[in-house]
Amino acid sequence: MSNAGSEQGKGIKRRGVCFVISAPSGAGKSTIANALRASEPRLRHSVSVTTRQPRPGEKEGVHYHYRTMEQFEEMAANGELLEWAIVFGRGYGTPRAPVEEALNAGHDMVFDIDWQGHQQIRKALPDDVVSLFVLPPSLAELERRLHSRASDHPDEIARRMAAARDEISHWREFDHVVVNTELDRAIFEARAVLTAGRLLTRRQTGLADFVQTFGA
Ligand code: 5GP
Repeated sequence: MSNAGSEQGKGIKRRGVCFVISAPSGAGKSTIANALRASEPRLRHSVSVTTRQPRPGEKEGVHYHYRTMEQFEEMAANGELLEWAIVFGRGYGTPRAPVEEALNAGHDMVFDIDWQGHQQIRKALPDDVVSLFVLPPSLAELERRLHSRASDHPDEIARRMAAARDEISHWREFDHVVVNTELDRAIFEARAVLTAGRLLTRRQTGLADFVQTFGA
């Protein structure tokens, strides 16, 4: 397990945080998650299973585990997925084993999943989840970003725009929300949310013995 996240807590063991980041496609959640991981190499990333095709530059086992719908359904039926959802007509799910291993070992983990995944993972791991919703500055800006990404077909972009409103309608279900108008600020705020999540009193199960040394 890792340190509690503050100098005073050095050496005190705690369980890892499930840091869930959700947003409509193009709001910048992957960029934010990547920036967090770049500055904290110990932060794990949950690699999801998907039935969609890899985009150019995406790698098996790094961005996703790419599987057929049949394989995906089998994993879901066998309980190998901690949560799963059908998004844009494709299966997406979180493999269970790496999450349990990471949290038990005290590693924090970032999840780039949709609102359906957030609801399920919160139910499955109520004490471990700290969640963040990323809003774009406007729908017009979201569309511009999706076009500039240019990795999706125009039909796909139209589909994602339609889905954006639906995703955004769930923003209140999240613990925290940031508006990604300026990327550096959004990254700073996301890091602050993760830090605060690590320091939640309910998560400091290893702290009781330490506090006893104060005679309190
Ligand atoms: P994309 O195809 O752009 O990589 O992802 C599409 C959507 O699926 C995004 O909103 C992303 O957060 C969501 N997603 C990715 N992996 C998972 C997962 O394992 N579970 C759930 N519920 N959603 C996921």
